[in-house]
Amino acid sequence: MALVPFDDRDGWIWLDGQFVAWREAKVHVLTHGLHYASAVFEGERMYGGEIYKLTEHTERLFKSAEMLDFEIPFTVAEIDQACKDTCAKNGLTDAYVRPIAWRGSEMIGVSAQDTKIHVSVAVWEWPSYFSPEEKAKGIRMCWAKYKRPSPETEPVHAKATGLYMICTISKHAAEKDGYTDAMMLDYRGYVAESTGSNVFFVQDGVLHTPTPDCFLNGITRQSVIALAKGKGFEVVERHIKPEELAGFTECFVVGTAAEVTPVSQIGEYRFTPGNISLSLMDDYAKMVRRQLQPA
Ligand code: PMP
Repeated sequence: MALVPFDDRDGWIWLDGQFVAWREAKVHVLTHGLHYASAVFEGERMYGGEIYKLTEHTERLFKSAEMLDFEIPFTVAEIDQACKDTCAKNGLTDAYVRPIAWRGSEMIGVSAQDTKIHVSVAVWEWPSYFSPEEKAKGIRMCWAKYKRPSPETEPVHAKATGLYMICTISKHAAEKDGYTDAMMLDYRGYVAESTGSNVFFVQDGVLHTPTPDCFLNGITRQSVIALAKGKGFEVVERHIKPEELAGFTECFVVGTAAEVTPVSQIGEYRFTPGNISLSLMDDYAKMVRRQLQPA
């Protein structure tokens, strides 16, 4: 399938409070966000006309901006509305929604106090991050070369563009070796998360998931914990050492894009997508489409 570049599509993008034609939603090469990674973003999904956990995502965008020392010049309600309006303007009821906020061009340098803060919202059709075949079989992952940094090194809880540099490098290395994704350890050597999703393991019917103390406590992660507890499962949040993976039978990753995706391999460790992963995958798919009441 030929790639349709993201800057050459039909449709409308919300930019700083107005809709602009898709191909005209441009930034200048001397944009602070491009040079110094002063940008924060969100990834959301609309299912059947409703954006799942929209306000939680918008609030996280605002908190991410605050962590990068800038203030978004709109209210949470205005950005919520912009996300809904952009879907409507593009005639989409099932879509991926990508808000982003960044420092503009008034200053180029480490200090950027007087830059204007820009915000845009783009939406597009994106049926599934991983293919249905991959989901059923479970994805294969290797270990990433880079580690999630310490909270003393970066604002680790911000969904900030700069923090994705090591994710892209790690995912590319994984793909070159025939894997779908890479699992990242943290700066202490504990299992952290994949390049774009959180991870869960199963042992004797109990779910184990890393404590999000140096990476995103994903909105999907929180939903899946509530869903699993609602089904009567025990969920343990703790530090997990890589060698403990030998004792887990099932593994799955969760995220807005990944939804709930079973994992069959992480490096030397093997897992079999089982009842718990598959039932949570189905329940999550129903919950986001409002066919199942949230726990
Ligand atoms: N970790 C990383 C690095 C991510 O990019 C994402 C996706 N935003 C997640 C975790 C999961 O977050 P959420 O469930 O809020 O999409």
